[in-house]
This record gives sequence, structure tokens and C-alpha cells, in this order.
Amino acid sequence: MKDWEKNLDLLIRSRTPLIFIRSNEEIRVQKLLEESSKRMHPRRLAIWDYIKGIEGLINSKGIAAKQPIAVLQWLQNVESNNPTTLLLKDFHRFCDDPGISRMLKNLSYELKQTPHNIVLCSGSWTPPIDLDDSLTILDLPLPKQSELKILLANIASSSGSPLANEVLEELTRACSGLSESRVRQVAARALAQRGKMGKEDLVEVLAEKRQNIARSEVLEYCETTATEADIGGLDALKGWLSQRYMAFSEEAKAFGLPLPRGVLLLGPQGTGKSLTAKAIADSWSMPLLRLDVGRLFAGLVGASEARTRETIQRAEAMAPCILWIDEIDKAFGGDSRSDGGTSQRVLANILTWMSEKKSAVFVVATANAIDRLPGELLRKGRFDEIFMLDLPTSEERFSILNLHIQQRRPSLEINLQAIVDRTNGFSGAELEQTVIEGMHFAFAEKRELQETDLILACSQLVPLSRTAKEQLESLKEWSSTGRARPASIHINF
Ligand code: ATP
Repeated sequence: MKDWEKNLDLLIRSRTPLIFIRSNEEIRVQKLLEESSKRMHPRRLAIWDYIKGIEGLINSKGIAAKQPIAVLQWLQNVESNNPTTLLLKDFHRFCDDPGISRMLKNLSYELKQTPHNIVLCSGSWTPPIDLDDSLTILDLPLPKQSELKILLANIASSSGSPLANEVLEELTRACSGLSESRVRQVAARALAQRGKMGKEDLVEVLAEKRQNIARSEVLEYCETTATEADIGGLDALKGWLSQRYMAFSEEAKAFGLPLPRGVLLLGPQGTGKSLTAKAIADSWSMPLLRLDVGRLFAGLVGASEARTRETIQRAEAMAPCILWIDEIDKAFGGDSRSDGGTSQRVLANILTWMSEKKSAVFVVATANAIDRLPGELLRKGRFDEIFMLDLPTSEERFSILNLHIQQRRPSLEINLQAIVDRTNGFSGAELEQTVIEGMHFAFAEKRELQETDLILACSQLVPLSRTAKEQLESLKEWSSTGRARPASIHINF
């Protein structure tokens, strides 16, 4: 018996009155409860839903249909010599009703004297504070690889075409992170199309995983064409990243290395933080998932934590992958009193996940300023490393300008020294802007881009470093205390 089942049995046996199983997989939960009831014979499982009323018990079939209070009263009257687990489907929807909430609280005391338990199940519900003390929460993890393997093998053999071991292994690995019902859907589609499952289904599994991301309101699957070759400078950061990548291998695991957790990229606007996140995904051949933190907090109060959990599950389903948390300072830098502590709780959830995570989800967080970043996030052990992306040095400016010119006018040779000298304090984005502006001048006069166009373009641009001087100074000062590593090799703090 697996740990989770043992836990469930223990809760039931130890007379836990109200159990809330956090999962969207209602059918799987029902099956697990059926098995648990069998193990604890003569325990009975009753299932209630709003439309059908009670099911599973012949004598009580149909009782309390459309009457949520009545089903609770029914359980109150069940004799103790008939130990009963009652699965209430969609019941979280009724819990805001004062009568139901009171009744559940009463039952949380009364049922302790009986062998009966109530089980609620939902993946997207955050219980109201009133009920917090009465409910015991049990998170149902996604199926493990071993469970998926059995599931896939069973589906394939009952279709009459068992899978070759190698294909089964590959499919199992690919399905890792999907819920049981999603795996069944993929299998059903394969059987309907070709009458059997096979290697061809790997593409379907990947598509299913992408859809899983698309269904999320918070995650976005980023298609990116940026590569490491598109980054000028930042050599220390690039070197560190290629070293970390090696830690994902089986050899590194055998060597005893933990999976890399993630990196925090700090720096003023336009210094290549987003570009780096995209380039990591490309050079590590991992999907890039962008987390829109603003959306975590959108909508109903209390929904944010459930959404965070769901987002983490979805990201883990895509592992190995890069989870890019853009502008993390803006999300968690607010006043916690103004949102009833929601942002603090969401941050705590993310931090706990980051420090305990065993999955190959590499977090790349980006921020412009440290004064708004919560201290917990900067503490050692959260990220593998914190990098400071400063404004580019003269060598870096040369390589960034060169890169952007080569991307647009591949065979053009141009002397860049004068522009490099005039662009001290420019960010990578501003250097790119300089190239584009210069090209506009040249194009308007129907000729090739020249050094003078670039000189004119940079003289007309006021770099942000001139206007946001203070912010940059405080970032540099903080980094210089050794708390962040310089992303460029030439900089000595
Ligand atoms: P923000 O804090 O505003 O999100 P950022 O640091 O994430 O800024 P990016 O979005 O990565 O900045 O940079 C914007 C654009 O500037 C990039 O798409 C790229 O074209 C150019 N750029 C910035 N830094 C570099 C660099 N080091 N090498 C080449 N191009 C760069």
C-alpha cells in the first residue's frame, strides 16, 4: 500500500470527521475511497451529488437529492455499527451557506464519537477561514510514474495490443505529471484513431501537456527563438548556466548533485533578463512557461492560493521545464496589509515549493529593484544564485551593437568604437534601439547604414540610467556587498 493510501486509512480510522481531499480528480478520489472502504471492511462508502442524491448504498439510493442539509442529517442518523464514509461531490459550493457551514462545524465535533467521516473533494477551493479548524486537508498528488506505467499497460492490454516494454517506458515518462483522467483521454483518443496505443502517442501527450498549460489562466507557454548567441556580454552568467545545465543529467544525480532550483536575475530595465530566460529554455531544450504573477492575484479573494497550487502542479507536469517569474518584485513588493495578507501567503507557498521541490522545474525570476523584494526571497537556499545584470561595459556594448547590426544587416562592416564610447550608461535594449533608429535614418535616405547614423541616433536617446540613477545606485550598492554575483566578467564590484 502506498503512503498516501496509508495516510487516508489512518485519517478514517482515527475518526477524522471532515476530510478535504485537494484534487480535481473526482473519479480517482472516488476509486481510492472505494479501495480504502474495502480495506476497512465492513466500512461502507456512500456518494452524494446534488442531482442524484445518495448512491452506493442500496437502501438509501436517491436520498437527499437537491438537499445538501438533508444529506448531512442523514449521516447524523446512521448507526455506529454501520461505519460510513460519505463522499460529498461539489459540496464546497454549498459551504458559504451559513446553515451548511454551521452544520459542518457541528458535525466536526459530533462525528468524533462515531466511525463516520465526510470527504469533500475539489482542486480549486480554498476553504473559508471559519471551516479551517474543522477540516483536515489531504493533497492528492498526481499519479507517480509507477502508477502511470500500470495504468498505461492495463489500458493497452485491455485494448488487445499490449505495449512493448521500451514504448511503455517512453510513454510513461512522457505522461509524467498528467492526471489520471488526462492520460485516459489521450489513450482513448489513440484507441479511437488507430485501435491501439504506440509511439505515435508521444506527440499527443506533448500536445496534451501544452493544452494543460493553455487551460491555465496564469501560465503562458512561450514559443521563443532567442538563443544564447543573441546575448551580448553577460559571460559570467552564461558560464554559470552552462555548468548548471550539466546538473540535470543522470551522471550528476549519481554523483550526488541535487537538481538545480533556479536563478534570480536582478538588474535595471533592458539589460537582458527576459532575453536570458528565453535563451536558457532554448539552449537547455526545455519548454518555457511564463508565470503572470498579476493574474495569480486577480479575481476572488482566497482564490489566489488555490491558483498558486494549481499553477505549480501544471508547471511540474511539464518538467523538465523553465518557469519564468517575470517582475517578481512588482508582485510581492506591495503592502501585505492592503490585501489581507494574500500576497504573503502566496509568496510563502511559492517559497516552500521552491525549497522542497524535487522536480526538474528551473525557476528564472527577474526583478528591477531590491527595495521592494521580500527578504525571504533573497535568503540563501531559495535560488541557486542571484545575478546582478548591470549596464553593459564597453566590451559588452561593442558585442551587443555588433549582434544587433549583424542580425539586421548581416554583411555590413562598420566601425563601432565611436558609438561604444558615446553609449556609456546605455542598456542592451537602448543599444538595440540605437541600431534601429540609425537604420531608419539610413533607410529614409535610401542608403546603407553608416557610423554617423548610429552616432546621431545615440545622441538623441536619453538612457534610463540618467533618469533612474538612484534606483540603479541602490541596486549596485546592495550587490556590492556580495549578495549577488555580477553577470558580466569585466565588472569588479
Ligand atoms: P525589463 O526589466 O524591462 O523586463 P529586461 O532586462 O528583461 O528588461 P530584455 O527584455 O531582456 O530586458 O531586453 C530587451 C531587448 O533588449 C532584448 O530583446 C534584446 O533585443 C535587447 N538586449 C538587452 N540586453 C541585451 C544583451 N545583453 N545582448 C543583446 N541584446 C540585448
